[in-house]
Amino acid sequence: PVLEHAMKNIVILGSTGSIGTNTLDIVDRFPQEFRVVGLTAGSNDEKLEAQIRKFRPAFAALANEAAAARLRDRCADLPVKILAGNEGVAEVAQSQEAELVISAIVGGAGLLPTLAAIRAGKQIALANKEPMVMAGALMQAEAKKHHVRIFPIDSEHSAIFQSLEGHRREDVKRIILTASGGPLWGFSREQLQDVSPERALQHPNWKMGSKITIDSATLMNKGLEVIEARWLFDIPETQIEVLVHRESIIHSLVEYTDRSVIAQLGLPDMRTPISYAMRYPERMPLDLPSLDLTAISTLTFFKPDHDRFPCLQLGYEALRIGGTMPATMNAANEVAVEAFLQSGIRFLDIPDIIRSTMEAHAPRPIDTLDDALDADRQARDKAESLVHALTR
Ligand code: NAD
Ligand code: MG
Repeated sequence: PVLEHAMKNIVILGSTGSIGTNTLDIVDRFPQEFRVVGLTAGSNDEKLEAQIRKFRPAFAALANEAAAARLRDRCADLPVKILAGNEGVAEVAQSQEAELVISAIVGGAGLLPTLAAIRAGKQIALANKEPMVMAGALMQAEAKKHHVRIFPIDSEHSAIFQSLEGHRREDVKRIILTASGGPLWGFSREQLQDVSPERALQHPNWKMGSKITIDSATLMNKGLEVIEARWLFDIPETQIEVLVHRESIIHSLVEYTDRSVIAQLGLPDMRTPISYAMRYPERMPLDLPSLDLTAISTLTFFKPDHDRFPCLQLGYEALRIGGTMPATMNAANEVAVEAFLQSGIRFLDIPDIIRSTMEAHAPRPIDTLDDALDADRQARDKAESLVHALTR
């Protein structure tokens, strides 16, 4: 029997990216269930045009103004309204008809539109972890005020969300986030010193955007995810642990007070957690390969190595200090990753730049969006000057 589902109107922030295209793949499989009312991206007008022609949203936006102008020309024959700039992206996030906003922009650029969607009362499916890192308390306070639920897409957080279902929160002893260890797990410090961006971009288990792939290589992705978990599940950092699990089959675990451990497993495919966030509490019948544990045969586990990969500890430190420190760490990381990919700083300069930026920062509380954005700007300036000193 075919289940009847009410049509859900969705907006995708970051539709041209890895999460965005996986989301559209699900929409494509269930056209009777999701209507795309808005698509937004950074600057890829060609790809966004193709998506608009296929999914026919009423609204679209590109953050880059020149690209938005090109997109208007390309789509002149279509009844789509095209907006420009960060404000245009935030405008689409609040579209009247939208019920669910898939937040899948990369980096702090997603904070403004995601918060705008929350304030407009849209339900959120959240992949974009950086805004939670920058201003998690503020985002959750606004979500509560506007009766918004934030459903995790990040695979670890989806696993925790699923492992918490049907259990009492007071029975939770700890959350264990798994980490693949990334593309450079076996590398010595000497090897890490000279690693190229091309090598660092070769993730063994996941095909993702370049920023998160480098975060995975430095383990900063796990530092960001510890902070994301803090706010998504309202759990102190003392109850969040990280376990390196190379195969990315166990996506995370929850231990309860009776020492029972509940985990969620699956082949690494983001369409599983995306679809769960889109149709919670029901599951979608996805035509994907099944997990065959005999084919995988061995699952391996290690402690994180903080000497070679100091970024995870920086995440814990930033969370302990609180206030504007996580936003500062996040901004410094974004600048350092971009510099590693584009301007030739070395891989091990990334944690150094982040640490130095954090050390130069006097943390303040975050009460408003501007507090977070100011910290973000200041940290970018500081980190950019550090990059400049290394590359001139
Ligand atoms: P990506 O680089 O593939 O895509 C990023 C998207 O954001 C693109 O559509 C791009 O056009 C858009 N964008 C960039 N700058 C923008 C701006 N200033 N304004 C509006 N749009 C902008 O990245 P991704 O891998 O899809 O990751 C997206 C987010 O999801 C990240 O926060 C990442 O950490 C998180 N995430 C990704 C995965 C994954 O499998 N890719 C898994 C878990 C979490
Ligand atoms: Mg993850």
